[in-house]
Amino acid sequence: MGFPKLTFPLTVDFSSAGYWIGDTGPYKYGAAVTAFFIGDVLTEHVANDGIPLMQELERYLRAFGGHLQPYVREEDNGSVAPQVFLDPGAAHANCDLCFAFHPIEEASIIVERCTFSSLRDFLYVELGKAILHGNAPRQCRLCGRWFLHEQGDRSIYCERVAPGEEIKTCREVGARAVFENKLQSEETWRIYKRAYKKYYARVMKGNMSREDFNAWVKKAAAKRDTAILLLESTKGAEERATLVEKLREELNRA
Ligand SMILES: [Zn+2]
Repeated sequence: MGFPKLTFPLTVDFSSAGYWIGDTGPYKYGAAVTAFFIGDVLTEHVANDGIPLMQELERYLRAFGGHLQPYVREEDNGSVAPQVFLDPGAAHANCDLCFAFHPIEEASIIVERCTFSSLRDFLYVELGKAILHGNAPRQCRLCGRWFLHEQGDRSIYCERVAPGEEIKTCREVGARAVFENKLQSEETWRIYKRAYKKYYARVMKGNMSREDFNAWVKKAAAKRDTAILLLESTKGAEERATLVEKLREELNRA
């Protein structure tokens, strides 16, 4: 994908649908800040490989884009300083702005033409506009790498090849895992219900006492719930199948 190398001062034409850098574009809102988070070199000479700038932008993303759920990791780099909320102007960016016409195909549209003198100013504005549009960088729940989340897109996984896979993407593997999870937790309920019927039939026939049955129900339900919890935290397909089989055995003993 890659984002073009930028030189400053940088002139950007912002429209409602996307933006142009000089003649190239349109780019989606959030594309530049996502590329920067991924580690693309957007421009030469960024202090300390861009890490302080990255951290600063992540703070704004968390402060203003929290509703877009950009993070999967739990608060691992401290919480957002309240100053960002109390005095947002302190983090302002500078740019020169004029309205202009940007030619597209045979027409031209009115745009906000901004000239930025630094990468930080440009990315601050690009991130803010992305959040206003409902876009934001998001961290993949499977591989942890950043991807551009677009408005309305509910995926929590990226479309790169997943770790340990040759062709399948995180999105495919993730969707499959969620699906299998659901199937297996449904299977635990089915096992429980079948065993319940079996033991209840014994009570009806007088082969099992009510007290014994009630005690069985209590134990069986607890085992079922434990199995569901264990399934949620177990990744390997084989281990998961073993858990389901173990439950089947335990609920049908005696
Ligand atoms: Zn991923």
